[in-house]
Amino acid sequence: RAKEVGRNTFAFFQDDMQAISDKRLSREKSLHRALSKNEFEVYYQPQNDDQGHIIGAEALLRWNDPDDGFISPDEFISVAEEIGLIHDIGRFVFQESARQVAQWRKEGIWKDDWRISINVSPIQFLHPNLVPDITDALEKSGLPASAVDLEITENMLMSDLELALSKMAQIRALGIHLSIDDFGTGYSSLKYLKELPINRLKIDQSFVRDLIDDPNDRAIVLAVIAMAKALGVNVLAEGVETQAHFDHLKAMECFTYQGYFFGRPCPAIQFAELCRNPFKVV
Ligand code: C2E
Ligand code: MG
Ligand code: MG
Ligand code: MG
Repeated sequence: RAKEVGRNTFAFFQDDMQAISDKRLSREKSLHRALSKNEFEVYYQPQNDDQGHIIGAEALLRWNDPDDGFISPDEFISVAEEIGLIHDIGRFVFQESARQVAQWRKEGIWKDDWRISINVSPIQFLHPNLVPDITDALEKSGLPASAVDLEITENMLMSDLELALSKMAQIRALGIHLSIDDFGTGYSSLKYLKELPINRLKIDQSFVRDLIDDPNDRAIVLAVIAMAKALGVNVLAEGVETQAHFDHLKAMECFTYQGYFFGRPCPAIQFAELCRNPFKVV
C-alpha cells in the first residue's frame, strides 16, 4: 500500500514537473517573440516628496502576451535571466525609458531635477554589456546621465564583490545615481554598505505594509532611516498605500515615497497626464 502511494505520488510529481517544464518552454518561446513583436511596454510609477511633488519615476516593465494577457515581471524576469534574454530586454527598457523621458523633458512635462529609476538585476549589472548599453541609450536619446538612477539589489554583492564594486564606481563616474532596491530583504552586509558608492536606500514594501500595527516593522523602518542618515544617503519608502502610511513615514523623517497612495504604475500617456495634474497631499 505504502509502495503504491509512493508510486502514485511520484507519478503525480512527474506529471507536475512535465507540466511545469512544458509551460516554461512555451514561455521561453513566447518571450523571444515578445521582444520582436513589441509586446513589452514600459509603465511609469511616480516617486514623490513629502509635499506630494513628483521627484521622478520608476520604469516598470509590462508584458502583454496575446494568449495569456498581462504577465508580471516577477514571473518572466527570472526566465529571461535563465535563457540570457534579460540583456536584450534590459536594453529595450533603457532605450525606451530614456527616449520617453528625454521627450518629456523637451515638452517641459518632466522637470530637470527628476530622475528615472531603472531596475537592473544582478546578472545584468555584472555583464560587460551594461555600461555600453546605457551610454548608447543616453547618446541616442540625449538624456543626461544625471537624470538616471539604477536600482540594484543587495544580493548582487554576493556573487562577485570586486566586480560589483568596480561596476558601481564606473556607473557613478558616468554621473548616474545608484539605489539599493528592496532594502532589508537581501543579504545585506552592513560591513560593505558603508563602502558602497550609493545614493539611496529603498525600504522594501514588506516593512511598510504593516507599519502602523507592527512594532517590529516600525523598529526596522526607523533603523533603516537612521542608518541612511548616518551614511549620508537618501531613503525612500516603497509600497506607500495609504494616508496613514504617509503620515507615519513622514513623522519618522522619511521624506520620499513610492506607492499606490501617490499613483500606480501606468502607461506613458497616463503618467504625462499625472504630471500635468499632479496629486496633492493634505
Ligand atoms: P520592484 O523594483 O521592487 O518594483 C516595485 C513593485 O511594487 C512593482 O511591482 C510595483 O508595481 C509594486 N508596487 C508599487 N507601489 C505599490 C504599493 O503601494 N503596493 C503594492 N502592493 N505594490 C506596489 P511590479 O511592477 O510587478 O514589478 C515587480 C518586480 O519586477 C520589480 O520589483 C522588479 O524587481 C522587477 N522588474 C520590473 N521591471 C523590471 C525591469 O525592467 N528590469 C528588471 N531587471 N526587473 C524589473
Ligand atoms: Mg525597483
Ligand atoms: Mg522594490
Ligand atoms: Mg521587488
